[in-house]
Amino acid sequence: AWSCSGNKATMDHSGGKLSIDPAIEGKVDSVLKLMTIDEKIGQLNQLTGNGETTGPITFATEYQDAIRKGEVGSMLNVNGAAYTYKVQKIAVEESRLGIPLIFGYDVIHGYKTIFPIPLGEAACWDLDAIEKSARIAAIEAAAAGQHWTFAPMVDIARDPRWGRVMEGAGEDPFYGSLVAKARVKGFQGSSLADPSTIVACAKHFVAYGAAMGGRDYNTVDISNRTLHEVYLPPFKAAIDAGVGTFMSSFNELNGVPVTGNKEMVKDILKDEWQFNGFIVSDWASIREMLVHGIASDDYQAADLAMNAGIDMDMEGHIYIHQLKKLLADGKITEKQIDDAVRRILRIKFMLGLFDDPYRYCDTIREKELILNPRHLEIAREVARKSMVLLKNDGVLPLSKKLNTVAVIGPLADNTEDIIGTWSARGEGKDAVSVLTGIRQKLPNTKVIHAKGCDITGDSKAGFAEAIATARKADAVVLVVGEAAMMSGEALSRAFLDLPGVQKDLVLAINELKKPMVVVLMNGRPLTIEWMDNAVPAILEAWLPGTMGGPAVADVLFGDYNPSGKLPMTFPRNVGQIPLFYYHKNTGRPRVETERYTSKYIDSPNTPLYPFGYGLSYTSFDYSNFGISANEIGMSDTLKVWVDVTNTGNYDGEEVVQLYIRDMVGSVTRPVKELKGFEKVFIKKGETVKVMFKLTASDLAFYTRTMEFKAEPGDFKVFVGGNSRDLQELSFRLK
Ligand code: BGC
Repeated sequence: AWSCSGNKATMDHSGGKLSIDPAIEGKVDSVLKLMTIDEKIGQLNQLTGNGETTGPITFATEYQDAIRKGEVGSMLNVNGAAYTYKVQKIAVEESRLGIPLIFGYDVIHGYKTIFPIPLGEAACWDLDAIEKSARIAAIEAAAAGQHWTFAPMVDIARDPRWGRVMEGAGEDPFYGSLVAKARVKGFQGSSLADPSTIVACAKHFVAYGAAMGGRDYNTVDISNRTLHEVYLPPFKAAIDAGVGTFMSSFNELNGVPVTGNKEMVKDILKDEWQFNGFIVSDWASIREMLVHGIASDDYQAADLAMNAGIDMDMEGHIYIHQLKKLLADGKITEKQIDDAVRRILRIKFMLGLFDDPYRYCDTIREKELILNPRHLEIAREVARKSMVLLKNDGVLPLSKKLNTVAVIGPLADNTEDIIGTWSARGEGKDAVSVLTGIRQKLPNTKVIHAKGCDITGDSKAGFAEAIATARKADAVVLVVGEAAMMSGEALSRAFLDLPGVQKDLVLAINELKKPMVVVLMNGRPLTIEWMDNAVPAILEAWLPGTMGGPAVADVLFGDYNPSGKLPMTFPRNVGQIPLFYYHKNTGRPRVETERYTSKYIDSPNTPLYPFGYGLSYTSFDYSNFGISANEIGMSDTLKVWVDVTNTGNYDGEEVVQLYIRDMVGSVTRPVKELKGFEKVFIKKGETVKVMFKLTASDLAFYTRTMEFKAEPGDFKVFVGGNSRDLQELSFRLK
């Protein structure tokens, strides 16, 4: 059950909505009855520790006292089985009611065993693998005392300048929804009662990824239609998969920060979607409403947040001081407070914390599971599945019989950056660099190394040595890209070039005309058209995690045939952004020969690499594309099939993609929408028939009157190996 197999997009990765269990509700009632109003408000308060894992408690004594007084419901950034035990003990033994704390932490792509950054992992298009990586992250985090992760981030991201694109699944709502489900299911397992699971958190609700100009935390101003069509679906998918918590985002939407936005949180999430878990604010986002200019003081900020439906205040210190006053003034009701407390206690009961508050504090389990060899093996497997071959003029795979290989570049012998940001308790000392990975794979080859330059900075002092090293080699592996701290929170970029003098290094080594491959490590799409024009081979490895080095070596030397496909468009230049495959046609799509069409006078409209793109060491041929009817009714199923033949020299996997286009609608529709995919393994010379099914519900969208339904008319259906190179057929919906 631990090997990563192929995938069907239609596969059910949902665990089912978080349901209300009458037995648990009865227990919640019995606790609620015992609580004073102060204790209730205490449950809504979340404070931060300082990330310690061992030794005596080191965070503020006032926070420890607050736990004693029953003024804290949750702590974040408290780690380690022994350490969480000590903190939990204060709540359980020293507070009046002994209600256990719920510990939350950013377990984003692994806890100690670090997997590729989520954007990279999404490039594997293997939902089983994605689920498994979240499962392992949960197993390790749970063994280290964590109950709750602030993940998955399910924000759709269409602007690679935004540093947080690395935390999500890319640009597409359909694929993003499937990945959201797989991740929720991985973290939460089949039941939260199992102490190897942690409760997941769908964040950041909502439209955080639409920050203007890709600048983190910036204003969001999108249409209601785009909100519903693009940004909300992965959140709804997370609910359908049973996600236990949500986090409200920092950004405003329709002029109201989401943390105070009743229309979003209460009306959509709690009422329309009937979400039964609880909602935590993002870090101090209740307080930030003062800075946004929507609340003049803490009292008003608390009023807005509570009436919007935010249940827990993350390190904002607002609820704890204001809710009682608001209650006395009749601005909020005790029923509202009870509802928030109920939601939090419900999750605590589901986790089994009332039965045994220390069930996650098991130092033996922690020792055994953290960085467990099996976890490392899966991290390696997921990392190599995530890599995307962007270009290959036949250089790859490299032979294992080479006499001398030069491994060059600032990320070649790097273990700190390759684990990326948001790497929880992951440490560079546990990671394996590309240089080491290649040395381990090729014991009989001379593997030589030079750094060449730093990731940033303008010194070319190391170039001469790098060139001399490359000159001695039969093949060159050049590992360049971004530092970990160039993507992630508050790490937006205005330029998407390779930082520093790395471009010059690549071009200088390329001059030697050796067999050369550039291995890219980065947290976002970069503008590398020059590289595509210049070098013979490019492998996108993202920030691949603890086992990144061996995984890169597996791919470079042919032990794994790359199968990743881009979950996000690579633009040619920053000026094209936002650029994504799921766009509208406009009344004047680009025509080269005509003056007044939608274009830039100084850049093509097309991306460098489209969504869904990625090469293999083999080649795949698509034939016999067919559909079961030219016309279907609203309750019919259209079968779509295609034969995919492996026409090259290696066995390999292909992500067969299905897109549709609604030709005429009551509102304009995108030129392509992904509606299915299947990742298939095909032996060389063999053919596999891939079959998809489409029903009216796959063709539905928000109509002019915002009803979600399919409209009769003409459609196109496309199949192919990426969003650009597709075959098409037409059918009609009656
Ligand atoms: C981030 C969240 C994160 C939280 C807790 C915030 O700054 O936006 O994504 O979960 O901090 O660390």
